[in-house]
Amino acid sequence: MSTAQEIWAKWDPAQHETEYAQKRIKSAQSAKLTPVSINREEMCGHFQGSYGSYDTWLTECQCVDFARSQKPCKHIYRLAMELGVYSANFSTNKNAIPTQGSQKKIPLEYTVELIDKLPISAQDVLYDVVFRSTREQPEYWIERNSDYTALIASDLVRECAHDPADRRFAFGKVNDLKRELKSRGLEYDKSLKKEPLCKFCTEHYPDEMAKIYPELFPVMINPDFSRTHIHNYLSQTSTERYWAEHKDEYIEDSMPSEYADCPQKWGECFNWQRLDDQEEQKPPVQKPSLVNRIRSFFT
Ligand SMILES: [Zn+2]
Repeated sequence: MSTAQEIWAKWDPAQHETEYAQKRIKSAQSAKLTPVSINREEMCGHFQGSYGSYDTWLTECQCVDFARSQKPCKHIYRLAMELGVYSANFSTNKNAIPTQGSQKKIPLEYTVELIDKLPISAQDVLYDVVFRSTREQPEYWIERNSDYTALIASDLVRECAHDPADRRFAFGKVNDLKRELKSRGLEYDKSLKKEPLCKFCTEHYPDEMAKIYPELFPVMINPDFSRTHIHNYLSQTSTERYWAEHKDEYIEDSMPSEYADCPQKWGECFNWQRLDDQEEQKPPVQKPSLVNRIRSFFT
């Protein structure tokens, strides 16, 4: 097994001299960074921060700072000091550890940075998770695909434990399901409507359903992040994306002035704002200024 010294050598010593690192080293020395626990054998530590609690190894930390930069964070430096592989003075005082109850949420700018790094398709799934779940019912079931992997890796979303017997599937059209059941010779009550039929199939033919439909698994928004931040930012970016892609299909002047300053209402304009075939012959009235106006509203 590698020694702590060998593991620490993964980091380029020049990194520790950078301004970026020096800031974190200074924080690491403070009593506030007193670890909750250190496991010398496993060379890992547990820290309680203002935004959450983290398991930390010499090369990795669960905090957002590390997720953003992949460079040593203050927890990693403190662990390195505690294990004696990075020499610096540090203060220890268990009373200085932030208390769990007073946890703040992760700042908006970090949240936004993590969201921006996600593929657009994963951002759409994240929007679904935050939009279709609530604080009281935080679980939302999604497919385990590359978006799932990206979301878990970002730590914006966490897996929820669930009973393996509780299986769910992304059912499609009910007629397709009936056709599948018939072709596989699976018995069912033909009078059932979509929802009860899906429930019936999930209960009686889960393994067959898994061959036909993507299986869903429960996730939730990581409680260290603000749901409101995630929701508002994604609602803004998806609106912007929509307008950037579709702005040619709309005429700015067709928007009533009382709607112009209220993006929440733009959805209501879509039906009548869209150019019809005859109008498309006319020279276009507006354009990029609309998107700029959307941007300026949010900034
Ligand atoms: Zn950290």
